[in-house]
Amino acid sequence: MKVIFFFVLISFGIVAQNTDSSFIRLIYNQALSKGKAYEDLRSLCKDVGARLSGSSEAAMAVQWGKERLELNGFENVYLQEVKVPHWERGTKESGWINSKDGLRKINILALGGSIGTNGLLEAEVIEFKSLVELQKSSKSNVEGKIVFINQPMNEQFVNTFNAYGGCYSIRGEGAIEASKLGAVGVVIRSVTLPMDTHPHTGSMHYLDSVIKIPSAAISTLDSEELSKLLVKGKVKFSMELDCRVFPDELSYNVIAEIKGIEKPNEIITVGAHLDSWDTGEGAHDDGAGIVHSMEALRILKELNYKPRHTIRVVFFMNEENGNKGGIAYAKRSIDRGENHIAAIESDRGGFTPRGFDCDGSHEQVQFLKTFGKNLNEYDLFHFDRGFGGVDIGPLKKSFEKIMLIGFVPDSQRYFDFHHAETDVFESVNKRELELGCAAISSLLYMLDKKM
Ligand SMILES: [Zn+2]
Repeated sequence: MKVIFFFVLISFGIVAQNTDSSFIRLIYNQALSKGKAYEDLRSLCKDVGARLSGSSEAAMAVQWGKERLELNGFENVYLQEVKVPHWERGTKESGWINSKDGLRKINILALGGSIGTNGLLEAEVIEFKSLVELQKSSKSNVEGKIVFINQPMNEQFVNTFNAYGGCYSIRGEGAIEASKLGAVGVVIRSVTLPMDTHPHTGSMHYLDSVIKIPSAAISTLDSEELSKLLVKGKVKFSMELDCRVFPDELSYNVIAEIKGIEKPNEIITVGAHLDSWDTGEGAHDDGAGIVHSMEALRILKELNYKPRHTIRVVFFMNEENGNKGGIAYAKRSIDRGENHIAAIESDRGGFTPRGFDCDGSHEQVQFLKTFGKNLNEYDLFHFDRGFGGVDIGPLKKSFEKIMLIGFVPDSQRYFDFHHAETDVFESVNKRELELGCAAISSLLYMLDKKM
C-alpha cells in the first residue's frame, strides 16, 4: 500500500515537471516561429520613431501602445495620466575645436535637460580625466573655461553595466561640479566603450543653488583627439545649442492585463519604458523591452494559459528623464488597494538572454535560482541577486515583500548604441529579440505557477 502511494506521488511529480517543461517548450516555439515582436519593434521604431517625454512622438507612442494592446485582445487596456518634463533639443547644435592644428567641426549632442548657449559660446578648454579630478581642482584653474571631462568607461569590467555605473555621473553631475568652479560650459566624453564618431546623450541635472551652464557630449574619437591637442597647447572650444525646457506635459503609462482566475488582486507586472531619447529610434533602449513585455503576455494568451494571478503589462512613460511613470504607477497601485507580488522589467536591450537578476530577500533569490532547472536548457544560467529596473523600482517602497526582477541579456553591445543615433531597429537581431520574449514569457509562467 505504502509503496503504491509512493509511486503515485513520484508519477505526479514527474507529470508536474513534464508539464512545465513541455509548456515552456511551447512558449519557445511560439516566440521563435510565430513571433510578433520583431514586426512590433519595426513599427515602433519606424512608424513612431524616437519618443522623448513631452514630444509629439511620445504622444503617438502612447496611441501606438494602446492600439497594439487592444489588438492583442488583452483586458482592461488603460491610459494612466502622468505629468512629464518637456525638454527639446532645438535645431541648432554645433561644435568646433580650434587649436594650433587649425579649426575643425565636430559632432556634438546636448545632454538632456541642458540649457542652450544663447548664441555662440567660445572659451578655452580645460581637461579632467574624471569627475573626482574636476572636484579637486580650483576656481583659478577653471573660471571662464569650458570643462572637458574625458573619463572613459572601464573596459576591464566584463559586465558593461558595472563600467557604466562607474562613469555616468560625469553626465549627470558634470555641469554642477564645473559650474561650482566658475566654468562657462561642460563637454563630456560619451559614456560608451567603442571608439567611434557618435556622441551619446542622456540626462543631466542642475542645482538651484549653482549657476546653470550648457552641457554636451562629444564622441570617444573626438575626445581622444581633443585630449592630444591639449597636450600640444591651448585649445578653444566653440558651441551653439538652442535646446530648452518647456512646461511639463500631460502623458500616460499604457497598461493592460490578463485577469487571474484564482488570485486576481495579486499582481505580477511586466514592463519597460515607452519613452526614449530623441536620437536614433530607441530600439534597444527601450523598444526591445516594450515588445518583450507585450509578446510575453501575447504568447501566454495564444497558448490559452489561464493565469492564477493577474498578469499585467505596463509601458512606462518617462524613465529617461524623470521616472514619473514608474512613480505614478506605484502610487496608483496603492490607491487601488492592489497587492503586487512581483514585477519584471526589461531595459537592458534586445540581446541574447542570459537570465534574470532578483532584487528581493535571500529566500526570493533562492526561489528564482530554482527556475534554472527548467530554463538552463534554453541557455539561461544567470539567476542571481541584482538590479530590478528603474520603472519598477518605486513599487518596492509600497510593497515590502515584492520581488523585483530585471531581465539580463548579454551586455557587451548595449552601450555601443545607448542614447545614440545608432540605436535603430537595424541594430536589433530578430532571433535574439525573440529569445528574450520567450525567456520573459517562461519566467511569467513559472512565477504565476509557483508563487
Ligand atoms: Zn532604458
